[in-house]
Amino acid sequence: MRLLRHLTKPLFKTQLIKQSPVYHALFKAPVHPRYFSSANGLPSTYNPVTPQNIAHFTQILGENNVITDADDLLYYSTDWMKKYIGDSAVVLRPETTEQVSEILAYCNKNLLPIVPQGGNTSLVGGSVPIKKEIVLLLTKMNKVLDFDATQGVLQCEAGMVLETAINLVGKHGYDIPYDLGARGSCTIGGNVSTHAGGINFVKYGPLRGNVLGLEVVLPSGKILNMMNTARKDSTGPDLKQIFIQSEGTLGIITKVALRCEASSPEKKLMFLDVTEYSHVLQVLNFAKQKFGRNLSAIEYMDHQSYDLVHSFKHKLLDFPFTYDQSLDQSQVKKWYV
Ligand SMILES: Cc1cc2nc3c(=O)[nH]c(=O)nc-3n(C[C@H](O)[C@H](O)[C@H](O)COP(=O)(O)OP(=O)(O)OC[C@H]3O[C@@H](n4cnc5c(N)ncnc54)[C@H](O)[C@@H]3O)c2cc1C
Repeated sequence: MRLLRHLTKPLFKTQLIKQSPVYHALFKAPVHPRYFSSANGLPSTYNPVTPQNIAHFTQILGENNVITDADDLLYYSTDWMKKYIGDSAVVLRPETTEQVSEILAYCNKNLLPIVPQGGNTSLVGGSVPIKKEIVLLLTKMNKVLDFDATQGVLQCEAGMVLETAINLVGKHGYDIPYDLGARGSCTIGGNVSTHAGGINFVKYGPLRGNVLGLEVVLPSGKILNMMNTARKDSTGPDLKQIFIQSEGTLGIITKVALRCEASSPEKKLMFLDVTEYSHVLQVLNFAKQKFGRNLSAIEYMDHQSYDLVHSFKHKLLDFPFTYDQSLDQSQVKKWYV
């Protein structure tokens, strides 16, 4: 990966976060260095962002889409958990692939480092800028391009929020082939870039099998159109696969074609408690055998998690299992499926 990064030269990504002392003092955020990040130190050849650069970005994007306000910069430099706090000179909000292309070509030429950002929910700090990286925010590129209700194929821009896509295809009786807790904020482009999984994995398998097409802008600014919508394509190497899970290190994903599945007309939920972890696996095995493709999701939690939710006395939730609260809950051996 590091080799690829050097070959493609630019600009993308990430390293050890140096927390801003001011922010740390204000929010007392803990220090969480990214030990396994790609490079511990941007090459010294990268340039700082200058007022001339900002003027150029403004020419491409318009004033509203070039953010330099300190509070806003801090917002986009802080991850969802407020665990990683980075540091950026400017946030750019392109609205078209051509604008992304222009920005990348310019940054590549001028050795300005970039980090792409979708919903900023990745939990591992991958979308957080460091050392004044430029944040390329994709959330304005959120349009639906097409939904083929016969084939069940959604084509959209990469900044579309997952929940918007779920609601959109849901109206036509389809499911997006994955779902996760961050659905209200994370973007389809971020999902593809991280190869996100989630609660429907057992039914639809890994996301890369359901991505039919991508449009990607390379660091040079070249636009790669791989927006295939056929369910099977044997026309040669499947180039788009190297961009899935590459978290922006090889290019910026700007459009996605996703295979969707007809949703089950009826849904049933079962909640079980068992006394051993091996029983959880037995339940999984039994459910797969019994329900086959009709099994949409399976999740489990230990007693400590159940007790934690219970302790909040969530008004909207019915707790089907009662337990002896006088016991030391950390010692209770129970699992919930
Ligand atoms: C409550 C909660 C539940 C979660 N559950 C799950 C789960 O079940 N399974 C799971 O896998 N993850 C889960 N996550 C993690 C997270 O939601 C996923 O990683 C999600 O895919 C990130 O999407 P995003 O748009 O927020 O991407 P970001 O966090 O903005 O970015 C993630 C990475 O992708 C890069 N990137 C973003 N957009 C693009 C683009 N268009 N082109 C190129 N690179 C890009 C960024 O630079 C960064 O490296 C959860 C997170 C939360 C907060």
